[in-house]
Amino acid sequence: MNPKSILIIGGGIQGRCAAYYLVKEGFNVKIIDPKTDDTGASYVNAGYLTPSHIFSIANKGMIKKGLRSMFNSSSPFYLKPSLDLDFIDWLWKFYQSATPGNVERSIPVIRDINILSKDLYTDMHNSMEMGNFQLDESGVLMLYKTNKAGDHEAEVAQRLIADGLAASILNRQQLDQLQPDLNEEVLGAIHYKCDAHTTPTELMPKLKTYLESKGVEFIHEEVIDFRYDGSSIKEVITPQNNYAAEAVVMAAGSWSQGILKKLKLHMPIQAGKGYRIDLYRETPVKYSAIFLEAKCAITPMKGFTRFAGTMELSGINNKVRKERVEAIAKASENHYNNLKITEEEKNAARFGNRPVSPDGLPYIGKSKDFDNLYLATGHAMMGWSLAPATGKLISELLTNKKTSMSIEAFHPDRFR
Ligand SMILES: Cc1cc2nc3c(=O)[nH]c(=O)nc-3n(C[C@H](O)[C@H](O)[C@H](O)COP(=O)(O)OP(=O)(O)OC[C@H]3O[C@@H](n4cnc5c(N)ncnc54)[C@H](O)[C@@H]3O)c2cc1C
Repeated sequence: MNPKSILIIGGGIQGRCAAYYLVKEGFNVKIIDPKTDDTGASYVNAGYLTPSHIFSIANKGMIKKGLRSMFNSSSPFYLKPSLDLDFIDWLWKFYQSATPGNVERSIPVIRDINILSKDLYTDMHNSMEMGNFQLDESGVLMLYKTNKAGDHEAEVAQRLIADGLAASILNRQQLDQLQPDLNEEVLGAIHYKCDAHTTPTELMPKLKTYLESKGVEFIHEEVIDFRYDGSSIKEVITPQNNYAAEAVVMAAGSWSQGILKKLKLHMPIQAGKGYRIDLYRETPVKYSAIFLEAKCAITPMKGFTRFAGTMELSGINNKVRKERVEAIAKASENHYNNLKITEEEKNAARFGNRPVSPDGLPYIGKSKDFDNLYLATGHAMMGWSLAPATGKLISELLTNKKTSMSIEAFHPDRFR
């Protein structure tokens, strides 16, 4: 029998976008998430929609960077040594996934889901169902200070252009026309006009208000267990209640692996912590920009400018590493003239955990062990960008429709 009610575990962008498409199909939806504030990955991210990001994070370059960074907690990618078994298992799978063949095979899949998702964001925006929200399509500038980084990115751009995506290679003079006030060390940029940006702190509450108006219930409780019978989840359990489950969508981001253990499922995910600094004042930033060497993402959001970045694999914890916040501030000041980030602004930095799978691809689909469990998690660096596509694909699975694209590469059981 087809389910009528869906329980979604996790109210980040994946949970909310799944709910968005599921209510359109007439399902009765509840989102269970203990969080009531605006913290975490779905609020602190850079807001990019990224058809240009075609490479998975699982590649040999990241392994080299990870090994080097183990002794330097201020480097853009920091891997804290740990004997945690899940972490060691994840690292091994990451190492095995990071082959040139896998990277190459994942490129069209990552590109296609990004394009699908950007189109869906555009539909969502144009529908005005949530009123107006920022969807800025001026693109992202990849700024470089070394010819090595510029040449490599130019090759990526050529590849995207050949695939029909809008990108152009800018020398310093052309770049100055778009983004004045750059430090003299910036040599040029690739302008990915195919990319866009949004303001997560604007869209997250708008989505919630919209969903509530459509009858979605937000339950502020923590899922701690399940009752299941053979291949079927019967109840989702919180300290306060047992919820009867017809179908369950797992969208608990970095916490998904721990929760899935209650079902004896092993789905490797590590938290990839990143930070953001927000400046509520005039800044030189006109365009979204990524610093190719320092790996920071800068976004002119609605009402403020966001400086975000760094990837820290150190488990799930609430530790704010000041040296990492400092690194984002310093890199930003070294790219724009007349930019100084104050101590107060740095002290107000926040972090979020990206849910990173070992091959950098999300888990989207149905687990073979449970007939009523759907996965929408593990989106790593692209979870904001890929959320509408993920939600749409989950709704298609639950209504037995042909999916908008092949989801084989995202199979939740691929590491088993
Ligand atoms: C600094 C930074 C910059 C980024 N920039 C970008 C970007 O520009 N573009 C992009 O596409 N992506 C970006 N990302 C990645 C993106 O933010 C994440 O991939 C995405 O937000 C993950 O969404 P999620 O819903 O899966 O997880 P989350 O937002 O983490 O939501 C998971 C939810 O599950 C809840 N939960 C946890 N445990 C339980 C439980 N036991 N029971 C119930 N609920 C539970 C949590 O409270 C949380 O609300 C960035 C991330 C960071 C940190």
